[in-house]
Amino acid sequence: MFLGFGGNLGDRYGQIEKALALVHALPETRVTRISSLYETAPVGYVDQGNFLNGACELETVLSPVDLLKSLLAIEDSLGRVRTVRWGPRTIDLDILFYHHLIVHQHDLTVPHPAIAERGFVLYPLAEIAPRFIHPEMGCDIAALLARYRENGGVEEYPVAEIVLRDL
Ligand code: ATP
Ligand code: CA
Ligand code: CA
Repeated sequence: MFLGFGGNLGDRYGQIEKALALVHALPETRVTRISSLYETAPVGYVDQGNFLNGACELETVLSPVDLLKSLLAIEDSLGRVRTVRWGPRTIDLDILFYHHLIVHQHDLTVPHPAIAERGFVLYPLAEIAPRFIHPEMGCDIAALLARYRENGGVEEYPVAEIVLRDL
């Protein structure tokens, strides 16, 4: 499984560290790989600070819905307040892929529907899972990133690494 994460309020690095430690502490769940972190400009609602974004690989026995509930609880515990859509947040945790499963429920869509359009997802994901096949698009992450770049997508750069103890 792969998660995308990011935030643009407060101590962005510290909140990502805390969020990943809390994910790693979920029942029978392990964070197994973490990408570099990327400093990215906001999209959607642009009048807000830059984000720090990344992606991680995860092993868990939680079902997709239970994983989503756990991620929303971790966002709450780190003080996320929901205001405008795509607005500023301390931490956002999205399920990008759950193996190659496809889920279309009112509260959960997996693979995450915007992966192919977002440089801040594709760049970190391509670091840790370049050969992972998107089950709905039928090509791998490296190919999605190449297509994104050919279409003039914003280039993103790693600015920090994250090291969690006891991974
Ligand atoms: P986006 O999904 O475009 O990145 P966002 O992350 O800002 O937007 P949120 O406000 O964090 O959106 O989440 C709104 C709802 O999205 C969540 O309450 C959850 O039910 C739903 N959702 C649907 N699919 C997913 C997914 N794959 N991962 C996380 N949340 C999801
Ligand atoms: Ca998101
Ligand atoms: Ca989200």
